[in-house]
Amino acid sequence: MIDRPDYDAIVVGGGPAGSTAACLLRKFGHRVALFERQTYPRDKICGGCLSQKSIRFLDRVFSLSVPALRQEGLIECTGTTYAIYVENTRALTGDLAEPFYFTRRERYDAYLARRAAEAGVEVHEGVEVTAVDHAHHTITTSEGDSCSAPVLIGADGIHSRVRRSFPEGIVDHEQWQENLGMALELVIPRSELQASAGGDGPVHLDSDLATPHLFFSACRWGYGWVFPNRDAIVVGIGGLYMKNRRDLPGQFEEFLNAIDLPAFADRRPTGSPLPFGNYIPSPVYGGALLVGDAGGFASPILGEGIFYAHRTAELAAHAANRHLTTGAPLARTYTTLLQRRLIPELKAEMALRNYLYGCLEGQMRIPLEVFMKAASSRVIDAVQGFRSFLGFRKVDDLHTAIW
Ligand SMILES: Cc1cc2nc3c(=O)[nH]c(=O)nc-3n(C[C@H](O)[C@H](O)[C@H](O)COP(=O)(O)OP(=O)(O)OC[C@H]3O[C@@H](n4cnc5c(N)ncnc54)[C@H](O)[C@@H]3O)c2cc1C
Repeated sequence: MIDRPDYDAIVVGGGPAGSTAACLLRKFGHRVALFERQTYPRDKICGGCLSQKSIRFLDRVFSLSVPALRQEGLIECTGTTYAIYVENTRALTGDLAEPFYFTRRERYDAYLARRAAEAGVEVHEGVEVTAVDHAHHTITTSEGDSCSAPVLIGADGIHSRVRRSFPEGIVDHEQWQENLGMALELVIPRSELQASAGGDGPVHLDSDLATPHLFFSACRWGYGWVFPNRDAIVVGIGGLYMKNRRDLPGQFEEFLNAIDLPAFADRRPTGSPLPFGNYIPSPVYGGALLVGDAGGFASPILGEGIFYAHRTAELAAHAANRHLTTGAPLARTYTTLLQRRLIPELKAEMALRNYLYGCLEGQMRIPLEVFMKAASSRVIDAVQGFRSFLGFRKVDDLHTAIW
């Protein structure tokens, strides 16, 4: 242990995961520094879809009810209906019992970082962590400074430097690569949509473009989406990288043609890898814990990652607090919480993902349609966090219990 550390915890990365971990650790009474290499407001490639899992997390942990989210300008659009396509045919559509909400990450992430600063976290924006010395519990920054803390939270996203500083053996590289996703996305202003409407693609999107649309054959082992936002729509495709590799740009162009938006096919989409089932079961080394995308935590069916960033950060903050206050072993405590509270769900969702995308891959339309008709409302409930992916049971404290 270091003699006199500068902080109790250092958080690397100020997305939803980093701000949540920092805020909670500060509220537990610890001295916390957060380093974010960009300056706020910074954008992040993302559909900005907030499931009810995220909505309820924000209410429970940040006291942000839906009216409060609206007041803070964090909700841009509300999706009360949905449409799911398979091979350009509308397979399912309907009303949602509870809506999905759509945010803009530029605002969302800046707001949460501000909350961390208001709680007393030292937020250093525009400062990159350039090196991690696990033996001395120290990090070095792009400013040339070093500082120390017994706990380091790696919330630095999919390309995580903290993860890359771990020794061989902690990350199973084969499983990481096999389940890593890749996505392309284009934000199209609504004003431009009106000006260029009209193609002859097989799918005609709803005219008000307020409904979230999912397209389950836009690429292999993944899907395409059209998400509403106030002044724009967000069009993207994403799936397992190993299954699509370099085909994704061509598939994106085909997708734009299919949904009647060929006028935007010459635009350059933004691309990024994303977790798609490549979570690390024990993402810890010494005093360092990985949360959010850094640890590969996201929905293996949809790639939804905002909730998983918040939730893993919460579990890590509780583990770190127990470690700092009672000396409980950090690695074992965090791994136990993940195993108890999150990983069984991710495993069950992986099994469902393999069935659903396996059916699509094998052109097994009948079992897929039977499943979709029989179970779609329960799957939506599970995505929204009202049911477990394990047998679709209702579990009251599924995404809230800690210990
Ligand atoms: C195309 C696409 C669409 C998506 N759509 C959705 C969606 O609709 N809904 C949803 O829930 N999820 C979606 N996701 C996933 C979601 O964006 C991520 O899961 C989520 O952002 C993870 O949050 P995080 O805090 O772990 O990481 P990030 O949000 O990536 O934040 C990491 C932060 O760390 C900073 N950083 C990195 N390295 C350093 C360093 N060395 N020093 C200091 N700072 C550093 C970065 O600048 C960044 O701000 C999507 C992802 C993609 C790629």
